[in-house]
Order: sequence, then structure tokens, then C-alpha cells
Amino acid sequence: MKKIGITGGIGSGKSTVCRVFSILNVPVYEADERAKWLTNHDPILKADIVRLLGPNAYDAAGQYNRAFVAAQVFTNPDLLKQLNTLIHPRVFADTARWVDEHEQYPYVLKEAALMNAAGDGNDLDAVVVVTAPEPLRVARIRQRDPQRSTTEIQAIIDRQISEEARLKLADFVLVNDEANLLLPQILRLHELFLGKATVV
Ligand code: ATP
Repeated sequence: MKKIGITGGIGSGKSTVCRVFSILNVPVYEADERAKWLTNHDPILKADIVRLLGPNAYDAAGQYNRAFVAAQVFTNPDLLKQLNTLIHPRVFADTARWVDEHEQYPYVLKEAALMNAAGDGNDLDAVVVVTAPEPLRVARIRQRDPQRSTTEIQAIIDRQISEEARLKLADFVLVNDEANLLLPQILRLHELFLGKATVV
């Protein structure tokens, strides 16, 4: 079974693309959502996080205190790195378990905002990058999340890897610029991943 990574900057439309694949009966592992879930439910990870950040990382009900953790790591990149070093292997273990549960499918997708190239510290067979012009990405997020300012969205974009660097990871690119039709591009990739086509 093939494992395909799918990534893209904020507002590129990666979740939208994944929804289409999902309708095509392709299982999608949403790594960022799953990482959030694991911080609340994985006992090994919870214990590691308490060891790193102290008991305030969880509230009295045992729920992850995202605001506290964000405040701790916001000005401390080293601590953020250490936190990610705890979270990543747990997400990898969870992904491996999830992949085993879906082995009857011809291929599965792993969606994440941050991703290495295929084979670089992961067992992905290929990486798809969803791309869109930055002003369009900002406009989409403004429309989707009206409470976020343009400055806030721009700050997130500036913290993410550059579009140029992201595109270097790509085995395949989906251009979601609302000028090129998106669905035919997705269907072409789907056929390719199903082994029904050889040329994209
Ligand atoms: P994030 O990183 O914030 O999760 P994302 O890359 O997953 O963003 P989406 O949530 O898929 O992006 O898309 C952002 C917004 O843009 C959504 O409201 C979505 O409906 C809209 N959008 C995405 N692609 C298109 C498109 N081709 N045409 C019109 N709207 C689109």
C-alpha cells in the first residue's frame, strides 16, 4: 500500500483537497488534529509533557492546557523544539498503527502542515504540495476565520517554511489558484496512486 503525504501552507487548500480524496474513499490521516488528540489521550506523551513543562501543562481535569504551553514555548524556541521532539515520535507511532488498520486500501494520505520530503525521516512514498498565491491564501483565511487579522495571518505565513522550500519537497504539485481547475488535477493523481495511470 502506498503512503502519500499532503502538505501546503495556511490557506493553500490542503484540507479542501483532502476532503475530495476522502469522498473518493481514500483514508486521510490528519496529523495536526491527531497530534492535538494525542496530547490529551496518549498516557506516554502526557507523562513526557509533564516532565518537560511541569504539572500546569494539564488542568485539574487532565485536559491539555494549550494556552499555558503556548505561553511557555512562545519565547523559547529550544523548549518548543524539545516539545516537538516528544510529540513527533508519538504521532509517528500512531500513524503506523492507523496505516496498519487501513492496509486493505490501495493508498492512504497523511495531511500535515509540516512535512519532510518522501523518505526523509518518514516512510512516505511521495509528497503532494498544494500551492496557491499568497494574497489568495490570506483572503481565504480572512473569509474562513474573520476574527483573524491580515497581520496575524501574515505572521503565521512568515513562521511557516517558504513556498519555495515547500515546493522542493514535492513529488506532485496541486495548483489551487482558482484559475486552474482543481478537481481534474486531484482525479489525475488519484488514478496515478491507484496505479491506473502512469503519466500525470
Ligand atoms: P489551514 O492550514 O488553515 O488548515 P488549509 O490549507 O487546510 O488551511 P483549507 O481550509 O482547505 O486550507 O482552505 C482555506 C479556505 O479556502 C477554506 O474556507 C476553503 O473552503 C477555501 N478554499 C480552498 N480551496 C478553494 C478553491 N479552490 N476555491 C474556493 N475556495 C477554496
